[in-house]
Amino acid sequence: MPTEFAQRRRRLASQLAERRLEALLVCSAPNIRYLSGFTGSNALLVVTGDTAQLFTDPRYRLQARSESDCGVTVARGPLLVAAARWIRRHRLRRVGFDPAHLPYSLFEQLDKELPERTRLTPAPGLVEGLRLVKSAEELARIRRSVETNSRAFAATLSLIRPGLRECELAAELEYQARKLGAERPAFDTIVASGPRSAHPHARPTANCLERNHLLLIDMGAVQDGYTSDMTRTLYLGRPGQRVRDVYRAVLEAQEAAIGAVRPGATAEGVDRAARLCLRKAGLARAFVHSTGHGLGLEVHEKPRLGKGDSTRLEAGMALTIEPGVYFEEFGGIRIEDTVVVTPHGCEVLTPTPKELIVI
Ligand code: ZN
Ligand code: ZN
Repeated sequence: MPTEFAQRRRRLASQLAERRLEALLVCSAPNIRYLSGFTGSNALLVVTGDTAQLFTDPRYRLQARSESDCGVTVARGPLLVAAARWIRRHRLRRVGFDPAHLPYSLFEQLDKELPERTRLTPAPGLVEGLRLVKSAEELARIRRSVETNSRAFAATLSLIRPGLRECELAAELEYQARKLGAERPAFDTIVASGPRSAHPHARPTANCLERNHLLLIDMGAVQDGYTSDMTRTLYLGRPGQRVRDVYRAVLEAQEAAIGAVRPGATAEGVDRAARLCLRKAGLARAFVHSTGHGLGLEVHEKPRLGKGDSTRLEAGMALTIEPGVYFEEFGGIRIEDTVVVTPHGCEVLTPTPKELIVI
């Protein structure tokens, strides 16, 4: 019975054959993990039609052999030189690489190490394409990550009060997530209060939370290598009518986008559903980013739920749905869940309630 990694490499091999490539040089850590199981920080992988060789340094000798089912070369010098030597020894002529993951300086070095007969051919996005649809095991890991993330949020809610610093709150959220099983945050936790919530990617500051302010929290966990991503917007004090109205409009847009997620729908179609809703509420101009993104081993994966991405959704894709609107002075409101495309529609994985949280 081939391992899940061997099965993935077999799917990759048939794509290589279609492109008349004899091998793919894989340089990105998440792609290497996906194809080989190896989780270390320094590696290269060469996948051919019937074999795969992992290159790493002596720090990872034991880890590479226990995690990966590939052949392992422990190189004392640069990994690229070791990989080039292996490619030369196996007389490979057409070797693909992803230009997004191989800096030009390394490309030049590799080209120099390879014999004349070996042609390096750009082959962008092959592994990312395989990663689009998740296996049942991957979805189970995403589900666990989502649950940990939501439990960490719930465990922190009671601490939120005026006077708490944004950075203290971010630290507490990350601490709780780790205590509940997360390996690390999936990205720098966003805690933005008052007018700072108008910056969609605000960094937490030493500012104290204040009464009668919006509070935007965007957090994600990594558990068993897989990510989660959630945003909730809170209000400290008694929200006025405008806050309630804008919040309702964003929630309706988020529900509309979730309603549009099903196999066969396009990524940009889901975005359009959210945008249309906010346009009706007169808020379209304040929605300055796309409606969501794929997630898995990385927190931002394909597809992008935005204009220009015509990817057809398929059962097994994991996505975020996160419309938001931002106004200077007033602040920002965003609501984000992690969802999975099912055979007939979609399942929202995030269990955290979505009504405006008033503290
Ligand atoms: Zn997020
Ligand atoms: Zn997101």
